[in-house]
Amino acid sequence: MTQEFGGFAAFELHPNILAAVIATGYEEPSAIQQQSIPIIMEGHDMIGQAQTGTGKTAAFALPILHRIDPAKREPQALILAPTRELALQVATAFETYAKQMPGVTVVAVYGGAPMGPQLKAIRNGAQIVVATPGRLCDHLRRDEKVLATVNHLVLDEADEMLKLGFMDDLEVIFKALPPTRQTVLFSATLPQSIRAIAERHLRDPKHVKIQTKTQTVTAIEQAHLLVHADQKTSAVLSLLEVEDFDALIMFVRTKQATLDLASALEAKGYKAAALNGDIAQNQRERVIESLKDGRLDIVVATDVAARGLDVPRITHVFNVDMPYDPESYVHRIGRTGRAGREGRALLLVTPRERRMLQVIERVTGQKVAEVRLPDAQAVLDARIKKLTNSLTPLVGDAESTHGDLLDRLIADIGCSPRALAAALLRKATNGQALTLAAIERDRPLVPTSAPRERSDRSSSSERPERSGADRERRAPVPLAEGRARCRTALGARDGIAAKNLLGAILNEGGLAREAIGRIQVRDSFSLVELPEDGLERLLTKLKDTRVAGKQLKLRRYRED
Ligand code: ADP
Ligand code: MG
Repeated sequence: MTQEFGGFAAFELHPNILAAVIATGYEEPSAIQQQSIPIIMEGHDMIGQAQTGTGKTAAFALPILHRIDPAKREPQALILAPTRELALQVATAFETYAKQMPGVTVVAVYGGAPMGPQLKAIRNGAQIVVATPGRLCDHLRRDEKVLATVNHLVLDEADEMLKLGFMDDLEVIFKALPPTRQTVLFSATLPQSIRAIAERHLRDPKHVKIQTKTQTVTAIEQAHLLVHADQKTSAVLSLLEVEDFDALIMFVRTKQATLDLASALEAKGYKAAALNGDIAQNQRERVIESLKDGRLDIVVATDVAARGLDVPRITHVFNVDMPYDPESYVHRIGRTGRAGREGRALLLVTPRERRMLQVIERVTGQKVAEVRLPDAQAVLDARIKKLTNSLTPLVGDAESTHGDLLDRLIADIGCSPRALAAALLRKATNGQALTLAAIERDRPLVPTSAPRERSDRSSSSERPERSGADRERRAPVPLAEGRARCRTALGARDGIAAKNLLGAILNEGGLAREAIGRIQVRDSFSLVELPEDGLERLLTKLKDTRVAGKQLKLRRYRED
């Protein structure tokens, strides 16, 4: 055992700290830990540069715990983190590593919670204070002496703190600390603003830089998929059918997109939730907790909301919207492949965004291979496999519990067992497409991957789904999954516009705007995409609806 944990044992950390690290399940120190722990243990100032997911927390938490005096009941170490989530994460990590050190307490100090209990915890002798700069300054304004005993300061994710505008707060905090303290700064990047802080507030710091780009990225299998912007949701739904994921995070650019995509996923039966800056802090934490413990499998997040999110279950990252820069791409995909696990990252690229893909490839020094949308056969196979998996355990004793009922139903209905089984299957699969033709109809159309060569390839039989613009023009407008196309005989010649149809369906049908898909008004008829789920009920509801004085008479429309 000692040999197995030789890596951590070699640091000569306090035995109770080592024991806690072993209990946590860490076997070997990560590169940043390997280099930082001895430096911090010796009391040097330090600048550590390493990407997300490299184990920076333990890199400072272990040596700091080693250096504090548990017998002294006063703040001795201050860790500053950019957000409440990160502060809580760091505080939790400290608690884990300090589990076997009686008398050591940790307090997390952040906004959005009452100040009283935080101050009380500090005064009651917490040795470790983990804080966001803003709230800590509030405390300092009330009591400028609260930090007078702190002799270790850690700036965690310093670049993020500056991005969030904490520069002035940091200066206030530096002034409130003894000048003799030890200062350690961790940052993924070292822009000039960070170097300037280091210059002014660190004393003869040692530098540790871990080149993690390759390390972070190699454990992650990356791929991209070309898709039209308006077909992203259906592309995502297709991908989910064939990807074997445990937990998954999807990145989008806007708050609205987190909500839209999360509800589209929920509608398909996925355990999904949105995570964005508008969502209250405690609700955000609940979402992250739920993702950790499996109550949720998919979180749809904006970059800001997902900052620091660390959930080892995450096997997949979907970049549904392009990140703004290659750095945030690396950041995003670092959410998977945590602690050496394998992860998979998929990037949706619209035709206009191909450039950005090239930039990402250049900066990460890696090719992001192209994948295709799963074809109808793959989707069908995946659906049948899921169905098989869900039915197999039921077959075991179903005959003993339901066999007699079956006999009776067959007799009462007067049908064959096969007919009855088929009816039950139809019911159990609840309108899900389970034939190639039906799946093919629902598939989003993908852009061709090489537009300029399109004409050369349009006859190539090797690439049937990429055979060029012609097919795209002739193909019916693809229907998003979960939607049914309905037809009314009212059209432009009846004085109908799309907004009239929309208004009537919204008012009379009681639907949300998002539930209604594309509306196409032709001269003598119109087509409206409506949710498959509950369609019959909806059509009944709309039975007597009139638009422009005429009966709407909406019916399900089948192309074939
Ligand atoms: P960073 O701050 O660099 O983004 P964290 O400190 O949050 O990284 O660590 C990332 C993950 O790796 C956490 O889940 C942490 O528990 C885990 N971890 C850290 N060090 C080790 C180690 N030596 N062995 C295994 N897992 C580790
Ligand atoms: Mg960190």
